[in-house]
Amino acid sequence: MLLTVLVCLLVPIAAASTDGAKIACQKFESAMSSSTVLPSNSEYIALSTENWSATAWGRPICIVKPSSAADVQNVVSYLSQHKVEFAIRAGGHLPSPRGANTNEGVLIDLSSLDVKEYDATMQTVKVGAGLRWGDIYRYLDQFQVTVVGGRVLPVGVGGLLLGGGLSYLSDLYGMACDNVVNFEVIIANGSIVNANSSYNADLYRALKGGANNFGVVASFTLRTYPIYNVWGGIRLYTHEQVPALYRALAEYQAQPEKDLYANLMLQPFATNQSLGAILNMVYLKPEPPAAFKPFDGIPTVGETTKFQTLGEMISGQLVPELPR
Ligand SMILES: Cc1cc2nc3c(=O)[nH]c(=O)nc-3n(C[C@H](O)[C@H](O)[C@H](O)COP(=O)(O)OP(=O)(O)OC[C@H]3O[C@@H](n4cnc5c(N)ncnc54)[C@H](O)[C@@H]3O)c2cc1C
Repeated sequence: MLLTVLVCLLVPIAAASTDGAKIACQKFESAMSSSTVLPSNSEYIALSTENWSATAWGRPICIVKPSSAADVQNVVSYLSQHKVEFAIRAGGHLPSPRGANTNEGVLIDLSSLDVKEYDATMQTVKVGAGLRWGDIYRYLDQFQVTVVGGRVLPVGVGGLLLGGGLSYLSDLYGMACDNVVNFEVIIANGSIVNANSSYNADLYRALKGGANNFGVVASFTLRTYPIYNVWGGIRLYTHEQVPALYRALAEYQAQPEKDLYANLMLQPFATNQSLGAILNMVYLKPEPPAAFKPFDGIPTVGETTKFQTLGEMISGQLVPELPR
């Protein structure tokens, strides 16, 4: 009896919660049909399960793919005015369920926001929120500059910059978000605003770690740095070497005058039986580094360290297939 009452109460609420999204999807389908993906479209399954982790896959009522800030403006204006649930996805690497996907609402997929504009005079680059770090590093290689960005190429620009962002350049220049000079943002009332140190300075500050709480960012303008040729690569180890690696890491980190050009990422794998750990190392100058000395002498099962470009070093990192 109680169950029947509950079901009767819940069904209309569940239906009502998706009704608004269904109407929104019909509207987007007629206004921007080539950018709207419905469950009946062949690409729907691939797109709704594109998030890096299966924990973040969803069944959105539809997926919209704006290709300009003005498109985002139209979509956000409608959704917020009609109080329709929606989620925002850039590179899709956040594993949190419904953090970048939805089962009841509209998924705004930013992957078509792909502007890349380098300004050599200002030493900045404007990047679309839908790009991946690999897109940006490959583009900037021709100018022999880089940005404070992700350490793994397929990670999205949008989520990493709005979440803080740890980079191989962070010891030198801070978190990735510290190097954003301008956010182009669509706020809830549908306005497009710039947030920087002179305009909307409170929003500028809030977006550095503010994730998706303050608006949809269409593009970021980032500081660039003339770092190109480096020493770096990876070393591979069996599980037996993991304790020695942690001892070396403690010694490396305890150096009183840490060399800010030396950066590393140690990844031990509890579940991958074939490989114990990967050590990614980069020295941000074309010089042989002394800083990694604590790791010398630990037996490896593979090594790729050499003089190369930063882009080559990051591309050469091994990303093992793990359950996710
Ligand atoms: C394999 C792997 C490697 C990683 N490497 C690093 C690393 O080197 N350094 C580091 O700091 N972190 C790293 N991370 C963590 C990663 O930065 C975060 O998970 C980040 O949120 C991913 O961004 P995304 O755009 O790919 O993800 P998404 O899942 O698309 O977005 C993450 C969150 O940000 C919101 N969001 C994204 N774009 C926008 C936008 N334009 N406007 C408003 N909201 C937006 C989304 O709604 C979502 O809630 C890594 C994660 C993985 C899985």
